[in-house]
Formats: sequence, C-alpha cells, structure tokens
Amino acid sequence: MLRYAVFGHPVAHSRSPAIHAAFAAQCGIALDYARIDAAPDAFAQAVARFGHDGGRGANVTLPHKAAAAALCTSLSPRAARAGAVNTLVRLDDGDASTPRWHGDNTDGVGLVRDVRERHDLALDGARVWLIGAGGAAAGVAPALLDAGVARLVVVNRGAERLAQLVARLDDPRVQPRAWGDGVDDAPVFDLVINSTSAARDAADVEWPLPSSLAPRWAAVDLGYGASARPFLDAAGSRGAAVGIDGLGMLVEQAAESFRLWHGIAPHTDDVYAMLRRELDAG
Ligand code: NDP
Repeated sequence: MLRYAVFGHPVAHSRSPAIHAAFAAQCGIALDYARIDAAPDAFAQAVARFGHDGGRGANVTLPHKAAAAALCTSLSPRAARAGAVNTLVRLDDGDASTPRWHGDNTDGVGLVRDVRERHDLALDGARVWLIGAGGAAAGVAPALLDAGVARLVVVNRGAERLAQLVARLDDPRVQPRAWGDGVDDAPVFDLVINSTSAARDAADVEWPLPSSLAPRWAAVDLGYGASARPFLDAAGSRGAAVGIDGLGMLVEQAAESFRLWHGIAPHTDDVYAMLRRELDAG
C-alpha cells in the first residue's frame, strides 16, 4: 500500500484524506493517506519518521509550510518563490534510510483553477487586493501574477511578513499596504481575497476593504464553511457580486498534489460536489 499523509497542527479537521481517497478510487490506485499531528518543534522528526516508514508523499498545512521548504533537497520554482511548501514528493525509491524530498506548492494553481474554471472569473488584467501575507498568501500571490493580474496590493496586519512577501515577489505590479491605510489613491479593484486565518480564531475583524471597487467585484475567502462567513458577509454588504469560499481551491490544490505523486490529473467536480454537500449538511 502506498503511504501518504497530511502534516499539520492541528490537523484533525483536514479533509485531505477524504479527497485523496476519492481521487484514488476514481483512478484505481490503492493508497493509505493519514493525518499526522506534529507540533512545530517535532515536525522535521515526524517527516523523517514518516519517510523512514516508507511514506511516498505528503501534504503540509498550517503552521509547517515554511519549515517544510527548509527540509527539502529541491524545490519547484513556484515553491521557491513562495518560500512555502504544501506538497512533499519522495525523491528516492522509498527504501533509503535518509529520505530526500522535493517540495512543491500547489495552493496557487488550486486557487487560480477554481476562480477561473469553476467560477468563470477573468484574472488577466484584474486588479487584486490580497488581505494577509502568511503561508497561503505566499502560495497564491505568484500564481496570481503568473495568471496576468494587472495589480496586486497586499495588505497585512504585521509589517514584517508583509515586507518579506513583497520583497520575495519582486514584481512592479505588487504594492504593500498597511492594515487600515487610506486607499483613496488606489485604482478600482475587481477581486478581493482574504487569506488571513483571523476568522478561524473567532477574531472580531474590521476587514480592510479597498475604498474603490468595481461594480461587479468578487470576494474570495481561502477558508470554507463557517470560517469564510465573516469576510464573505462583510463583502456582500459592500456589494460584492459574488462570494467564493476556499473549498474549490482545496480540491484543486489536492488534485495537483495527486498529479505530482501519481502522474494522473483526477476529475474534481464530483469530489467538490461531495464536500459541498457535506459542508451544507453541517
Ligand atoms: P499563516 O499563519 O501563515 O498566516 C496567517 C495570516 O493571517 C497572516 O497574514 C496573519 O497576519 C493573519 N492574521 C491572523 N490573525 C489575524 C487577525 N486577528 N487579524 C488580522 N490578520 C490576522 O496561515 P496561512 O496563510 O497558511 O493560512 C491562512 C488561511 O488560509 C487559513 O485559514 C487556511 O485554512 C487557509 N488556507 C486555505 C487553503 C485552501 O486550499 N482553501 C490552502 C491554504 C490555506 P500577521 O502576519 O499580522 O500575523
């Protein structure tokens, strides 16, 4: 049985095992996909143990994406640009006592596919306002730039992570903006993305929306279910024409990880519909 896993802290909520089981059934592949909860100081050791026990690949979620990048032998260009890894691919044949990992980041392609293909939104030429500068923002920002956005304003509560992300992106289309800064000089924005984890902590947040918004602007929250509601509700009351949560991105980033591990791109619509039904049923 091929062994895969998702590492996080916490990780009990992760839908990745169900998604990969559904893809595997669709493609006729037998695999075992586990959740592994590892605290930050135990993460590297947990990955080493998993590899030693024959693990072939893994997803990495909060808060380990930067630490995962640091333990890889090689990184894809998109993971190097993000400085964050959400997918580990085993480089050796699985027998080595010291496993070597290739790191990739499929979050960005997941978001772009969901927004463009499932929700039919144009990214080429779009003016995008991205709230948050953590691991998820680092993953999606390069993909948005590759998709041809005309402008990417990044807003973050903390100045340090904001400056680091903007410096790493190194693109004239990218501008940092401090949380709560006036935005009267800014152009009209077509798309506002919330990539913060604020709602997960039940924080009462005054969302820093831009003052100028296109008539049919779209809002995306990378969270899903209850954690997407505070931002999407605020966006709706500011007139967003469409509100998209992160469920589609979750399925699409998983499909890209699956393709990296197994060489097959699974169909995603049925899995997305299954998870949406489960979420709606509570
Ligand atoms: P990180 O911990 O790396 O970053 C968290 C971000 O949220 C930082 O920008 C942080 O700002 C900000 N933040 C946290 N609390 C607050 C607050 N109270 N007020 C304002 N800003 C706050 O997390 P990730 O970037 O990895 O994940 C962010 C979210 O994206 C999570 O909810 C995660 O579930 C979701 N996600 C969804 C995916 C999907 O497939 N749908 C994939 C990846 C992530 P600061 O720098 O100031 O601390």
